[in-house]
Amino acid sequence: MAFQSARRLKVVLVSPEVLGFAKTGGLADVSVALPRALASRGHQCTIVTPLSRSARHGPVPLQATEKELGVPIGNKEVTGRLYRAVLPDTEVPVYLIEQRDYFERDDPRCGRGLYDYVAGDGKRRPYSDNSERYIFFCRAVLEALEALPFWPDILHCNDWQTGLIPVYLREVYCQRGDDEQRNRYANIATVLTIHNLAYQGLFWHWDMLLTGLDWRLFNYRELEFYGQLNFLKGGIVFADRVTTVSPRYAAEIQTPYFGCGLHGVLWERRASLSGIVNGLDESVWDPARDGYLAANYDAETVGVGKPICKADLQRRFNLAPNASTCVLGVVSRLVDQKGADLLCEAAEAMMQQDVQLVVLGEGNPVYERMFIDLSRRFPDRIGVRIGFDEALAHQIEAGADIFLMPSLYEPSGLNQLYSMRYGTVPVVRATGGLADTVIGYDGKASDVESATGFVFQAPSAEALLDALCRALCVFRNEPEIWRRLMMNGMKQDWSWSRSAAEYERIFFELQKERVLVVDGRRNQGR
Ligand code: ADP
Repeated sequence: MAFQSARRLKVVLVSPEVLGFAKTGGLADVSVALPRALASRGHQCTIVTPLSRSARHGPVPLQATEKELGVPIGNKEVTGRLYRAVLPDTEVPVYLIEQRDYFERDDPRCGRGLYDYVAGDGKRRPYSDNSERYIFFCRAVLEALEALPFWPDILHCNDWQTGLIPVYLREVYCQRGDDEQRNRYANIATVLTIHNLAYQGLFWHWDMLLTGLDWRLFNYRELEFYGQLNFLKGGIVFADRVTTVSPRYAAEIQTPYFGCGLHGVLWERRASLSGIVNGLDESVWDPARDGYLAANYDAETVGVGKPICKADLQRRFNLAPNASTCVLGVVSRLVDQKGADLLCEAAEAMMQQDVQLVVLGEGNPVYERMFIDLSRRFPDRIGVRIGFDEALAHQIEAGADIFLMPSLYEPSGLNQLYSMRYGTVPVVRATGGLADTVIGYDGKASDVESATGFVFQAPSAEALLDALCRALCVFRNEPEIWRRLMMNGMKQDWSWSRSAAEYERIFFELQKERVLVVDGRRNQGR
């Protein structure tokens, strides 16, 4: 039975992406798994997200509510409506903010994403009204609170698209109405989780007019960032707590190299900044129950099931059906952050070994072309699929022997966790969540007890190849040690209930602090 906490929290998680409704990356998975894990620990949770086109046409039925949302954007009033759905296999309600012009333009068939589109020159460009779209979303969330099934203790915001929520809460909603109303809002504690600091929601300064916020906030300690309006910075400054998705990344982003210009602000908030590694959703990522696989397996039966999945993967990519060849897997956005250039650079040298490489991803068209070229040059040894394919991602995790993640930075990373769970040994660069979750094998007998993968330091093709060679050496020559690394990985606990317990601790601390703040206000007669 799931652990039930003695006290119940009321948590509203706000996210621009929710699996089953809209997804571009790991945030969508987190936005489902965390509320589900918190709910199974006895807390009341709900999710609020935009009603995108993919949600409208997705598998989960949506229901319009009576609640209309009116939001001032500059000097016009924009209206929307609140919709309701239920997260599949749970009782967690999902509220969707409908505003057709802003949120229902995503359509992969026409190259239109949630935040960007493919322009005439083939390059992806952000929508020119992104600030307006997410100003609307942030205010609409606060307007929608009245219509939710409970008043939140915690408003858990995620990424720049939600960054203005803590600002509006403290600067607008806690300041208006009578004492009782102000105290209701003041009672809500906000947490901002940064899933990737590189995406900050940066807009020109005149968009301050659209926010309706006081220009006084446009200063270098609050919303201003080198002359521009920065949504994420607003969230970092105004949220009661800031979390990110691994302890290592929380430390890294306070330094100029990883801080993307915000290291100073993050350092100032270091007492309220911490890292919690994402869990993996075991209802989706479990090789014993995964419906996408040619064979299911667990730690006991991996020796039987995995070779079947490997043969299936080789067939899907038209690779030579050779059981002893080591299959290297990549599932990734093909962008600089993920070390796509290192992979392209190293691929040719990899081919000097008895390996096959399968790549699933999309992103920068330059990398997409480079991988397609590689697959043409090595047709029975390199298989490439450009696009987003949930089933194939699972089949690669199960069928590959080694999973490659040479990220330049990696806030948390999910694929290395999936790999370990599926008995696929990760080769990763020591950064962010990769450094926190993969224990490198250095060839020492003592390592064998705990090691789960291979780790390298320098962001270079040479360092990646060196780690891969070390891995291949063990794969070929030391099958017992290899098996041990697989087992160690498969037995790790990266469940969401572990991560949820850490969020829960922070939420309880905050709830206590807010009560003190609000009591203080009452005593001062505010
Ligand atoms: P990020 O969120 O930075 O892209 P993560 O490793 O945290 O990276 O999460 C990536 C998630 O997206 C995983 O669930 C992964 O399986 C999935 N994913 C990434 N690219 C693809 C793709 N092309 N097809 C299917 N799933 C993908």
